[in-house]
Amino acid sequence: MSISPAITAYIGIGSNLIDPVNKIKSAVQAIDSIDTMQVLQCSSLYSSPPMGPQDQPDYINAVLEISTTASALKLLHCLQSIENNHGRVRKQRWGARTLDLDILLYADESINLSNLIVPHIGIPDRAFVLYPLYEIVPRLIIPQFGSLETLVSACPLAGLKKL
Ligand code: ATP
Ligand code: MG
Ligand code: MG
Repeated sequence: MSISPAITAYIGIGSNLIDPVNKIKSAVQAIDSIDTMQVLQCSSLYSSPPMGPQDQPDYINAVLEISTTASALKLLHCLQSIENNHGRVRKQRWGARTLDLDILLYADESINLSNLIVPHIGIPDRAFVLYPLYEIVPRLIIPQFGSLETLVSACPLAGLKKL
């Protein structure tokens, strides 16, 4: 049986319901406890105003760097089961949620499947992704979107605050 090489992936985390700070800490532990995944870096926690529907609490966000031997789809399924274990209920698009785990980048791959688009299409427009990512990998070059530093300099903070 062949052993898959480890790749580096980045995960965006968000929560705005039921003790978001602890939800994020618990999600990081859950990811690190999977035997094919290792958390390498975690950004500071940030707060940000909601995207989309405004009648919901502010979000707490962070970005993780992980090393994993899991395929991109396996990683997506693991993250979705961690979301479900943290009480995620899917109702309104961009509505309030206990936990959102998005794959931002998977090595330098571009993936276009019906259930997985990587790099995550929201990266260039989202301060709550760009600034925490920049904190942990300032020199990153993102497939399709270019230099992270250039993306950050073009993206207003839009209410993002480091906790
Ligand atoms: P957004 O993706 O705009 O941040 P969201 O995170 O609120 O919105 P979800 O309800 O968490 O959206 O996910 C909707 C679907 O997005 C999922 O069923 C998943 O299959 C799909 N998806 C596509 N690309 C990705 C990705 N890179 N990471 C996570 N989910 C993705
Ligand atoms: Mg999301
Ligand atoms: Mg999501």
